[in-house]
Amino acid sequence: MKEKSKPGLSGLSLEDLQDALAPLPAYRGQQVFQWLAQGVPSFQAMTNLPIALRKSLEEGFSLYSSSISAKQEDSDGTVKLQITLEDQERIESVLLIDREGRQTACLSTQAGCPMSCVFCKTGTRGFSRNLTAGEIVEQFFHLRSLKGPISNIVVMGMGEPLLNLAELRKALRILTDPEGTGLSKRRITLSTSGIDYGIRELADFGPDCRLALSLTTGDKELREKLMPVTKTNPLPALKEALLYYQRKQRRRVTLEAVLIRGINTREKDVHTLADFAQGLETMVNLIPWNPIAGLVFEGKPLQEPTKEEFERFAGELEKKGLKVTRRLRRGKRIAGACGQLGAAE
Ligand code: SF4
Repeated sequence: MKEKSKPGLSGLSLEDLQDALAPLPAYRGQQVFQWLAQGVPSFQAMTNLPIALRKSLEEGFSLYSSSISAKQEDSDGTVKLQITLEDQERIESVLLIDREGRQTACLSTQAGCPMSCVFCKTGTRGFSRNLTAGEIVEQFFHLRSLKGPISNIVVMGMGEPLLNLAELRKALRILTDPEGTGLSKRRITLSTSGIDYGIRELADFGPDCRLALSLTTGDKELREKLMPVTKTNPLPALKEALLYYQRKQRRRVTLEAVLIRGINTREKDVHTLADFAQGLETMVNLIPWNPIAGLVFEGKPLQEPTKEEFERFAGELEKKGLKVTRRLRRGKRIAGACGQLGAAE
């Protein structure tokens, strides 16, 4: 899937595509949009277009700007793709398959990430640039080319999605358009490290999707160390933003916590997390930290939590009346699990 140096079509909404192809009639734009949604490999394969038109489109435009450069598959069915962009930046995207066989695309929104979360490999590689809408959409197409239809999207790959909201909005508009891929908005979840103005922007202008906050801990000092974004987006401001989102969107938000052995699994973390959750319509998603070499906190290598530690923490939260889910480990062996993206670079 790679063509170069011509205006790309994969990141255009149906209306923008029709504008780009003017003076062709609107129905031609619609046909091309539908072909793109199917992941067609070339203009030549758009068999309901006249041959002369296919040729002139090929001369003037490119379909895709990225290509799969590496693929790893875990024995649990998870597949991680390394995707090379037109400027040779590399990003990663993951296909997750649950027990019922439902497929979920985990998409990246930035090449690298500027947020520097201590427990995340992507955070250590630094930030290169925001992805375009086309580059986000193409990750979905690349993943779908592996094992067929995908029903869910989680925007939890590389990068902080709220720092690239305009392009993400465009991408999700394309992927949810009933004329094209037609994904359900209810099956899209965006996960943020916590940017208060970004959450408000999401509440006001979309994209229309579910929201998860990677809370990690409700302890201010510890969160500032684990997630430096907290220094400029303090917990009370984040909570206010979540309450605003809930009022506007009438949706529950998820609080996520990646549990790291002996660090954010203390009694204090149970209490501060429960305090933060108070007043929110929420559930807590606990994720055992996935081992990845080279990540340290206060001079010591991070470790995954023990089973007992993980269960005790979950049980304590439940005793406080919170609804808790435990996220299954997926893709751990190929560094495709949460926090492991970018490990191969
Ligand atoms: S956890 Fe998310 S926001 Fe934090 S560094 Fe990793 S990719 Fe960036």
